[in-house]
Amino acid sequence: MRNKLLILCTILLCISCAKKSSMETRHYQSRGVEQAAALWTEQDGTQEEFDAFVEEHLCKTDSERVALYKSLSRILENCYQSADMLTVELLRPTQLTNASEPLEPDWIMSGYSPLAHFSDDMFSNKLAFVTIINFPHYTLEEKNTLGKKWTRQEWGMARLGDVFTTRVPAEVNASIAQAFANAENYIAGYNIYMGSLRTEDGRQLWPNDKVLLSHWNLRDELKALYADTAQGQVKQEMIYQVMQRIVRQQIPKEAINSGDYTWQPYSNTLQDKDGNTRSSEAEPYTRYERIMDCAHALMTEDPYCPTAPTAIIRNFDQGVEITADELDSLFRALVGSEQVKTVASVIRQRLGRDLRPYDIWYDGFKARASLNEDALTEQTRQLYPDADAFAADMPRLLERMGFTASDAKDIASHIVVEPARGSGHAWPCLGRQESARLRTRIADTGMDYKGYNIAVHEFGHTVEEVLDMYYIDHYMLSGVPNTAYTEASAFLWQQRDLQLLPQAAESGERLAVSGDEVLDQFWSMYEIMGVSLVDMAMWRWIYEHPKASAKELCEATISIAQQVWNTYYEPVLGEHDCVLLAIYSHMVNSPMYLPNYPLGHIVQYQLEEHLAQFTTPRAFADEYARIYRLGRLTPKEWMVQAVGQTPSITPILNAVDRVTSSRPSQD
Ligand SMILES: [Zn+2]
Repeated sequence: MRNKLLILCTILLCISCAKKSSMETRHYQSRGVEQAAALWTEQDGTQEEFDAFVEEHLCKTDSERVALYKSLSRILENCYQSADMLTVELLRPTQLTNASEPLEPDWIMSGYSPLAHFSDDMFSNKLAFVTIINFPHYTLEEKNTLGKKWTRQEWGMARLGDVFTTRVPAEVNASIAQAFANAENYIAGYNIYMGSLRTEDGRQLWPNDKVLLSHWNLRDELKALYADTAQGQVKQEMIYQVMQRIVRQQIPKEAINSGDYTWQPYSNTLQDKDGNTRSSEAEPYTRYERIMDCAHALMTEDPYCPTAPTAIIRNFDQGVEITADELDSLFRALVGSEQVKTVASVIRQRLGRDLRPYDIWYDGFKARASLNEDALTEQTRQLYPDADAFAADMPRLLERMGFTASDAKDIASHIVVEPARGSGHAWPCLGRQESARLRTRIADTGMDYKGYNIAVHEFGHTVEEVLDMYYIDHYMLSGVPNTAYTEASAFLWQQRDLQLLPQAAESGERLAVSGDEVLDQFWSMYEIMGVSLVDMAMWRWIYEHPKASAKELCEATISIAQQVWNTYYEPVLGEHDCVLLAIYSHMVNSPMYLPNYPLGHIVQYQLEEHLAQFTTPRAFADEYARIYRLGRLTPKEWMVQAVGQTPSITPILNAVDRVTSSRPSQD
């Protein structure tokens, strides 16, 4: 009783003596309690026990709350970092070539996640509830509006409110993982035997052993065919035909992952080895069934996520932190821009023919086509015989970009370079006791030019990771708003790879992006934004029709793809009701992930345009570092504080204008 009174007195005292902040404090408190109550279950205790818990753990003063914030930040940094360091060690044999050969236990442990039960544990020891009642969750809209006035610490506190927002039971997570694994396996086994394809007059265009995975390999083959002046277009038309059969779910099931029969995609007929036409059935609506299974699995999660009750909100508002509607209008503005028509006419001139729908994959702006790659490889192999040589050169790369010698040395000291078994990648640090990891694939003969180009991209990731971990004021703000923002840093470095070579002349000028590179990126944004629009619209449709059959989803997806095509692509590439935009396999195995790709370039061009004002390398590097020390604000607020504007496509359109207006007309 005495204690209770004391608490009550403290609250009253706090309210009366600190009028200005007390309203805000009370507002925080009731909101957090409300959110905690929504996640509190019978297993956690009775209503009375909840009330008692709140009374005991709700901070009574601002200074108590600040102390709690610091304590929770320290706990989370240690948990995340230690778990990550364990993962890195366990994965060493399976991921790196400078470790022992992986044995069976290493493969078993490669699937182990030390944090898999972290959230459950924090709810059962009630640390999650201590966090929620004192640091409530704010919606994206609230962060974007209230956040304009928040101090860095208030932002950090808001990020703490994002940590424990859901309480999804293990069996629900398991069923989601299963649905995604099924979709992944379906896509991984979806090969087209190109040697079995026949033209209508019976010609075979590809060798017997050519097998391509849909859609990535089909698309890459289509891109490579621009260089084949003899048969390129005939083959491209054939791939286009195959893709339409896949989307429309008309492909014979015998034509998937098998070369037992020959297939004429135009008439859609099969022949056996003796040349006899064979009746066939289309694959059932498996493609759409897999998507529907993933949707149903994700929907079972909805009731456990009171602050984000649909998979769409979880993906966009909470994941990307830009709403699906905002992305939708950003993308429509670009795909509907005049610049698309201008670049299309450049492509038409280069190809010397009218454009076809598959020219969304036009690959002729090869900025590096004129490079002598062999000569470059000779240079990079000599420079970087192994990973250690690249590591030793990192301070010079940073200095060349404009960093001071001491900053360059310090940033590089937090990055380790490791030889990867698979493709190159960056592995971020999750705390200030571990290094960011740059993984690169180097042959015994040294790093070839392609490997160098990728290594510089990954270096751009790791520099960003060090800046917003080691040089940041609040651990809860470490990182970037979303994947697009780290990709932007990686692109920024990657596109300067040639100028970073020691042989490149030191002009003292800021390093810049080439014109062909701009057009190449713009055209790929035009393509992938269309695909993203289809993906997002399909998910909206699924939530409006949760009980739809796979066949109904197929019909809806086709109709969505046609609408987007007819509005933004038919005027440029022709062909009414084309379904090509629904071919991406990501739509099946990584739902709603596609928008991240074009977003990376949007961010990159906003940064490029802003950084262009900083004409010396030193000023450029200082500004780049200031921006990447902003940390995990929302994408909108980050961009406002970085360049003074919200996310916008204007900079990329401006860049395209500059390139196309300076180009001599080829008419
Ligand atoms: Zn990257």
